[in-house]
Amino acid sequence: MPDFPLTVWIVIASVLGLIVGSFLNVVILRLPVRLEAFWRREARDILGLEQPDEPLPPGIVREGSHCPQCKHPLAAHDNIPLLGWLMLRGRCRYCKTPISIQYPLIELLTGVLSVVVIWKFGPTTAGLAGLFFTWVLVAASGIDFRTQLLPDQLTLPLLWAGLLLSLTHLFVQPSASILAAAIGYLSLWSVYWLFKLLTGKEGMGFGDFKLLAALGAWMGPMSLLPVVLLSSLIGALVGGALIALRKHGREVPMPFGPFLAAAGWVWFVAGDQLAHAYMSFTGLR
Ligand SMILES: [Zn+2]
Repeated sequence: MPDFPLTVWIVIASVLGLIVGSFLNVVILRLPVRLEAFWRREARDILGLEQPDEPLPPGIVREGSHCPQCKHPLAAHDNIPLLGWLMLRGRCRYCKTPISIQYPLIELLTGVLSVVVIWKFGPTTAGLAGLFFTWVLVAASGIDFRTQLLPDQLTLPLLWAGLLLSLTHLFVQPSASILAAAIGYLSLWSVYWLFKLLTGKEGMGFGDFKLLAALGAWMGPMSLLPVVLLSSLIGALVGGALIALRKHGREVPMPFGPFLAAAGWVWFVAGDQLAHAYMSFTGLR
């Protein structure tokens, strides 16, 4: 790595984060639609039904961006992360339809989280790995938030990456990584079945088990309990706030993935400090 001061790296991280955030927006919108179309085809294949002659929805990389309302292709300068949306004041240049606040929010979030990762780990292998970890979590959370789906296409690569990375002893040892992946999956799996047998309801999805397995693979077994507790705390606060603001019905299921991802990310960058603070607070140390 070139010998820049950390400030320069942080500026680079913020620009990179904004650009990647803009790409993650596309992933969040297009991946679930594309998956759904593939599943329909597969289902018709299995049932021996004829495939209707319809094109697949746009892929993630190939097709350029256009306004979802009037289909007008977007100019390059409208696509600039954050600034494009601000300059257009959140409306399409051609048909004036409001553009979802999701776009600038995801870009800003990805930019800020990327800066925190580089500030914490520096321009190192750990920093690069941390950026990958962060970006996959943002995409997975965005999709789960919108569609209640946590695609294998995101959770499994994150899991494999965590397991493989442990071979370099970067964050955890291989034995800790493997153990935590298995415990992470099985713990939520057991809770799921217990809850289902007792109440007949499904409290979470299989994507959540895979996500916790992935977080375990990156951070080891000691991270699992704090991450689950922290995610429940964040979930209760956000869910309570949404219900109080009447933005969310009490009976509408709330995705668990974004809270799990948020807790996992917080523990990834600040687990040591949080554990230490908790110990001193409770007088354990
Ligand atoms: Zn338009």
